Amino acid sequence: MPRRDYYEILGVPRDADIEVIKRAYRRLALKYHPDRNPDDPDAAEKFKEAAEAYAVLSDPEKRRQYDRYGHSGLDGQAQWNIDLEDIFQTFSDIFGEGTFGAFFGDRRRRSGRRPRRGRDIRIVMELELEEIAQGVRKKIQLTRRVHCEDCSGRGTRRGADMVECAHCGGTGYIQQIRQTFLGYMQTTRPCSHCDGTGHVIRQLCTTCQGSGLVEREQTITIDIPAGVEEDMQLTLRGHGHYGEYGGPAGDLYVVIREKPHPVFTRKGQDLYMELLLSYPEAVLGGEREIPTLTGKVKLKIPKGVQPNSLLRIKGKGLPDVHSSHRGDIIVIPQIWVPKKVNREERELLEKMHEMENFKAGQKRAKKSFFERIKEHMS
Ligand SMILES: [Zn+2]
Ligand SMILES: [Zn+2]
Repeated sequence: MPRRDYYEILGVPRDADIEVIKRAYRRLALKYHPDRNPDDPDAAEKFKEAAEAYAVLSDPEKRRQYDRYGHSGLDGQAQWNIDLEDIFQTFSDIFGEGTFGAFFGDRRRRSGRRPRRGRDIRIVMELELEEIAQGVRKKIQLTRRVHCEDCSGRGTRRGADMVECAHCGGTGYIQQIRQTFLGYMQTTRPCSHCDGTGHVIRQLCTTCQGSGLVEREQTITIDIPAGVEEDMQLTLRGHGHYGEYGGPAGDLYVVIREKPHPVFTRKGQDLYMELLLSYPEAVLGGEREIPTLTGKVKLKIPKGVQPNSLLRIKGKGLPDVHSSHRGDIIVIPQIWVPKKVNREERELLEKMHEMENFKAGQKRAKKSFFERIKEHMS
């Protein structure tokens, strides 16, 4: 195909100055822009032709060569297989982003339409020990980016607004032949006009501005397994924000917080509690009802039980989230001392005080409750 004269293509006289050339190119570029002529392959060709003419005539050196030798003056000097994407790239330089954006929508927003994974969501969940003991089903509300209802996540106003990309003929990639010092090289790369998707969008969905996603309040049901611990993180794959342009959804992370318990202190799977005994109770022994996280149990108090000793109730602690093992409840007895006594009680106590068996020895004081827990854990 014989090449047309560059001045003729742009429709300008041979002595046209750069401003005239710019104006002429701008007019043609807008007229033949493939976004405006999606079904006309001829337009794309004319668009390309105008770009090539402009590339030469706007460059003083190239224009001089062309004026002297015509097309042959430029052959071999540069590759003239001008790629449409390169042309788009130069648009912003020539006309400014705003001008072009106003005509064809923001190219930058359109670029990057390739699938992207959705963002993750992280939430903190506070749990009672009772809930942790048995596992619990929780309903939570969260704000999530989900598919736009108006366009089903396509980002287009209607299905028909998605058209085949004229630049790559819907294939999603561009073949390019370059002359290099090794000879002609053919390269293939994703079409950046359509981001390798093979289609472009004419009308963006107004609800989601073309992103295909909108923020919505959602209620999600989560099953918390028994035995979870403070700072433990549960991962719900695919329950994060939806991905853009068909990308996979992100994940939902649930971070566990344990609410303090009025009776129990947790150490791993074991639960520690203090139990106040009366002095006679400690001496004589007996039976006491003890609360657990799942109901009450009876605890045998051995005769002569010492303060700060450990009484173990097997298997009434928390389950291990990873195994079938269950911890214990560990009861630490303390002696309750009344602050006031009446006369009868005082007489009784004074009598006891006289007796040799009730005289306190010089034994060292037992360790405290928390020292005991620490010791037990190490
Ligand atoms: Zn394309
Ligand atoms: Zn939409």
